[in-house]
Amino acid sequence: MTIKPRRAVLPGRFQPVHKGHIEVIKWALERVDELIIVIGSAQESHTFENPFTAGERMLMIREALREINVDFSRIYIVPVPDIQVNSIWVSYLRSLLPPFDTGISRNPLVIRLFREAGLRVLKPPVYSRSEYSGTRIRELMLAGAPWEEYVPKSVASIIKSLDGISRLREVVKKE
Ligand code: NAP
Repeated sequence: MTIKPRRAVLPGRFQPVHKGHIEVIKWALERVDELIIVIGSAQESHTFENPFTAGERMLMIREALREINVDFSRIYIVPVPDIQVNSIWVSYLRSLLPPFDTGISRNPLVIRLFREAGLRVLKPPVYSRSEYSGTRIRELMLAGAPWEEYVPKSVASIIKSLDGISRLREVVKKE
């Protein structure tokens, strides 16, 4: 008899991927067989809230997971554009992703939508929120303050190779 794998969906914007996200992913992998990491707001890029494209975020997640020797046979990384209708978002995810029975998030809207759709919900603990927050890291980047220590080494290299700090400064001027 084959045992059905426990497969969970973990949505995030990952703007940028930071060490808090990596801790959440490690926590999740201790609790489920397979993890679908959804790169949410995939249509967004080149703004202060969402500076990086879905493809750039995919690369960041992949390289950060390679750094910690994650078994990629347990991982899916899928970019998903937002839709306007929150009430059908989980059905929309079901139409795009492998089957999943668990949702992992700390975001209150996401948790609510998962619960209403009947998913098992796992809420990870907070990992040093004062350091590991996408908004804070983007603000440090803008201020010219050190930010590299809050993201995995590979993510810092990717951001530098993309000229990410100049991008952030230039799009803020436009906003
Ligand atoms: P995020 O800020 O990148 O965070 C991803 C997850 O990691 C969240 O659960 C977040 O919890 C957690 N996290 C971040 N830093 C942490 C730390 N230091 N310690 C522990 N946990 C930490 O992304 P998000 O805003 O939750 O992303 C949700 C995505 O789903 C968005 O792209 C959104 O647009 C999408 N969405 C779309 C629809 C729609 O299309 N209608 C509906 C719902 C959601 P916290 O919340 O506590 O930071």
